[in-house]
Parts: sequence; C-alpha cells; structure tokens
Amino acid sequence: MKNKIIAGNWKMNKTRAEAEALIKELVPLVADARNTVIICVPFTDLQSAVELTRGTNIHVGAQNCHWKESGAFTGEIAPSMLRELGVEYVVIGHSERRTYFGETDATVLARTKAALNAGLKPIVCIGETLAERQSGKMEEVLTRQVSEGFKDVTAEELQRVTVAYEPVWAIGTGVTATDEQANDAIKYIRGVFAEKYGKAAAEALYIQYGGSMNDGNAKGLLNMSDVDGGLIGGASLVASKFAAIVHAH
Ligand code: PEP
Repeated sequence: MKNKIIAGNWKMNKTRAEAEALIKELVPLVADARNTVIICVPFTDLQSAVELTRGTNIHVGAQNCHWKESGAFTGEIAPSMLRELGVEYVVIGHSERRTYFGETDATVLARTKAALNAGLKPIVCIGETLAERQSGKMEEVLTRQVSEGFKDVTAEELQRVTVAYEPVWAIGTGVTATDEQANDAIKYIRGVFAEKYGKAAAEALYIQYGGSMNDGNAKGLLNMSDVDGGLIGGASLVASKFAAIVHAH
C-alpha cells in the first residue's frame, strides 16, 4: 500500500490571525507524519501559510485558480500568482464550486491544465450527487467527470495530479460513505483512468476519499486497498482532529 496524502480543505474559514494560530498548533502535531500533509487555505491565508510551514513537512495549497494567466477576470486568481507565493497544490472542481459557482467539467479541465502549466499540483475533485447515486447513475457520472475533466491531460501531467473522490451527499453532511462504498467507487474511478492511461499509471495515481472524514472514521477508510488518502473539510479546522487523521494510517 502507498503512503497516504492527507489534505485539509479549510473552505472559507479562518482569518489570517486564526490561520496562523492553527498552523502553529498543527506543525508539531504532524512533524513525524509518514503521510503527506497538505493544507488548502483561503487566498488571504496563503502567504502566512507558506511562511509558517517553511522547513516543515506541511505543504500548502489554494482552493481554486483561473485558466488564464492574466486579464479581465475580476475576482479570479492566476496559477502563476499562486506559484510566486510558494504555493504547491490547488484544489480544482470542488463540488461547492460546481454547485454554487457554475463549475463544469470543461472549466475543471481548463483550470487543471493551467495549474499544471504553471507547475502547480492539482487536487481534482469528482463525485456523484445523492440523486445520481440513487438513480443508478454513479458510474456514468464518474466516467463523464474523468473523460471530460481530463480530456487533454497527458500521462506525464497525470503524475502531478491527485484525484479526490467526494460523493456530494457526504460533504459537510456528517454522512460518511462506508469504507466499502468509498473503496468501490475509487476502484471504479481507477478503472476509468486505467482505460485512458494504462494500468500502471492508474495504480500510481493517488485517489483520495473526501466527505465527512474525521478522527473517528479515518482509520477504517484509509485502511481500504484503494483509498490513497483523504480530503478533509470540517475536521481540518481543528489541529488535534486533523493531526489524528494524518496519523490514522
Ligand atoms: C471537503 O470540503 O472537501 C469535505 C470533504 O468536507 P467535509 O470533510 O466537511 O465533509
């Protein structure tokens, strides 16, 4: 089994002062982690996060980036702006972006390509809604999200991508997928990648589970054969809980 990639998605939480306090608390708690640790923080916290994690094992990510390098895109942030700050990762296509901000597979692809071109490592989120799962469309949706959302991503670029399987019904709801549901969906997704990129590339690809993962359920989920890590929202806002997830496997 691979080591895991554990990423916190802070969403729109933590002022700069709050972020600094949380990071200072987190640094010693995860210093001896064998898994990769990432915190994806609001844009306004990025500079502090990069500075406070310098020389530690914590990597810093943003939560979105635009597909253009500059221009008339009010409110957006270019990948090169993130790189200049020292940011390494970027979450792309989170279901909250798809639901509230009109993100589509096409914009996810454009943002992912731009992030890769700028030297960032994208964490690309996919996952079905409850209605899609209940109507038997889960596999169709996941297949579409991979084939459309990775259309122009090369095999070489895929090596810098992490995928997060996040069933929409499990995000922020307190309802977690069972260990088996998470593993089965991730196995399915890996199969879709295998068809496009070959078995070896699909096996090397990190596919995380995200959706109400916490310090109580992380061990079971992370011990599953195909779950290569976690993308954690709510529980990443409390240093001790996030650290417990980091150490759960
Ligand atoms: C997320 O934001 O990606 C997420 C999984 O949130 P939560 O852990 O709060 O469900």
